Amino acid sequence: MPHLMNTYGRLPVAFERGEGVWLFDEGGKAYLDALAGIAVSTLGHNHPRLVEAIAKQAANVIHTSNIYRIPLQEALGDRLAALAQMDQVFFCNSGCEANEASIKLARLYGHHKGIDQPAIIVMDQSFHGRTLATLSATGNRKVQVGFEPLVTGFVRVPFDDLEAINKVAESNPNVVAVLLEPIQGEGGVHVAHADYLRAVRELCTRHGWLMMLDEVQCGIGRTGAWFAHQQVGIRPDVMSLAKGLGSGVPIGACLAAGPAVDVFKPGNHGSTFGGNPLACAAGLATLEVLESEGLLERAAKVGEYIRRGFAAAFEGLSGVRDIRGQGLMIGIELDRPCGELVGQALSAGLLINVTAERVVRLLPPLVFTEADSDVLIERLVPLIRAHLGA
Ligand SMILES: *Cc1c(COP(=O)(O)O)cnc(C)c1O
Repeated sequence: MPHLMNTYGRLPVAFERGEGVWLFDEGGKAYLDALAGIAVSTLGHNHPRLVEAIAKQAANVIHTSNIYRIPLQEALGDRLAALAQMDQVFFCNSGCEANEASIKLARLYGHHKGIDQPAIIVMDQSFHGRTLATLSATGNRKVQVGFEPLVTGFVRVPFDDLEAINKVAESNPNVVAVLLEPIQGEGGVHVAHADYLRAVRELCTRHGWLMMLDEVQCGIGRTGAWFAHQQVGIRPDVMSLAKGLGSGVPIGACLAAGPAVDVFKPGNHGSTFGGNPLACAAGLATLEVLESEGLLERAAKVGEYIRRGFAAAFEGLSGVRDIRGQGLMIGIELDRPCGELVGQALSAGLLINVTAERVVRLLPPLVFTEADSDVLIERLVPLIRAHLGA
């Protein structure tokens, strides 16, 4: 790959074809996909409804421009607003762009309130993307090193710690928003406590701050609800989405409600590709299939089945520190680094990921069944056991 910039540590495999929860490499070997392109391939591979929607739209018109009305974008905006009970949507192409929109919106909101150096509270171990603003918001030094000067205006606190936010509230009059993932993905699949999220909601309302949730990874049905925050009965003011929204076709979205509505005016923000007809057709088809096939309920049920299966297989094994997550967002934390498991799983015909050094992360497509889960458990358990010398 002499002409590709060296930005990824790639595994020595290329997939030629996909079908449901399976991918096939160039030699025809089959791999069970328990990662879904990192929470992207919501409907698995080549779902006929999605393929049909994309093909039909491509034959009609792929791209026009946000200079014109885009009825499919309006339809997807309506659908997302209804599902999230939020009011407005801005479409972009990726997670970092969705968060860029959130960050810009929060700053503008601050300026409208007369705060000309607005600050956003962000979390340790968070991940919000690789653009300058989003890597500055990210709570992982590795992502930032070498790219200083970072974007200013972020105040970092420990995740899931209400007292830390309260302290900032007492000392910093420039805060305009809190940005967090309800379930930290890259950080190691850490689920925020329900009480914490509800308390942050109240705190934001009390201080006139925007509660901004990054649901780029945990949103779109993965946890068993349309959006992870719905599990705890709150509504954010701003929410960013991307990964699973187009089931593989790039699309991102920033949603606004309450005080975040109408902050952007024409000229404040934009995107050339954002919400084009092809991407929106994929988004609409994804949401449609999630609903018609009952995949949210299935994500909750199958996720529970997987966690129970691993818990039973690892019972009494002290090297397995924790098995956690919600729905089909699952982390298995070991007592030692375990990056090698990714390559070993690949050899065994299984696609997984390791994040935060010692957390095996599973993000299967939402079409995953109990039978698929049995194959996953059967292939992964011996690898983890061997890794732990157990
Ligand atoms: C992946 C991810 C992002 C970045 O998305 P990109 O599409 O890679 O820009 C942002 N936030 C979270 C929570 C993510 O998981």
